[in-house]
Amino acid sequence: MDAATGEPVLEAGGAAVFAGTGPEPLGDAFTLRAFRGLVRARRGRLKPLLLDQSFLAGVGNIYADEALWAARLHPLRSATTLRPADERHLYQEVRRILSEAIERRGSSIDDYTAPDGDGSMQEHLLVYQRAGEPCARCRRPVRRIVVGGRATHFCSWCQRLPAADRKGAAPLLRGMTPRRSQTPNRRGGRWTELDGPAALGRTAPEVDAALAREHARIRARADRTSRAAATRRAAARAAASEQTARGS
Ligand SMILES: [Zn+2]
Repeated sequence: MDAATGEPVLEAGGAAVFAGTGPEPLGDAFTLRAFRGLVRARRGRLKPLLLDQSFLAGVGNIYADEALWAARLHPLRSATTLRPADERHLYQEVRRILSEAIERRGSSIDDYTAPDGDGSMQEHLLVYQRAGEPCARCRRPVRRIVVGGRATHFCSWCQRLPAADRKGAAPLLRGMTPRRSQTPNRRGGRWTELDGPAALGRTAPEVDAALAREHARIRARADRTSRAAATRRAAARAAASEQTARGS
């Protein structure tokens, strides 16, 4: 990346090089095997890891929560505790969710039009910003905690934290307080979060705006990747036809 402009530097052949940036999750080169190599070199917890642009490029807060929920992996789980099947689920769900995000937004960033705060995009999100609502899989309430300053939504039933990770995660999970109006007879952090009037976090238009930004980022990265791949394919075709011409 060019430090001055923030633009990718183009290598000979047109492949974009992002210094210190992880691979594009929708790129052809991003195979399960490649993902396994990356994740096995890391020790961090999954949520901050997914948001780390040096790990993967372009995964934002909203789709990180959605992918972890879909893969049934707790956001505070350590990368080192993942089994091969967990790695595969996470790989598949990150790709599936990012591709869906692109499809839903049409073929180009320019197609995006804000839904005027009607919250329509939020209907496609199964866990993000749904604290206190029933999990779409098990109907238990979705929980919200703050990890690295980012709101994090998950189902503690579907996304179990292995025993080895529980002790270290306890201080973060303590931030999860009950919604007292719904659980008047309970004490302690039994159900879900929510403190104060702004506890639900963003308003519907704010979530839509955040989604639009994530979509634009995902789309822009996917466009760059497919352009680079097209350039590589064209170069390979040219080389092959040159070889054929020479051979004949
Ligand atoms: Zn659940």
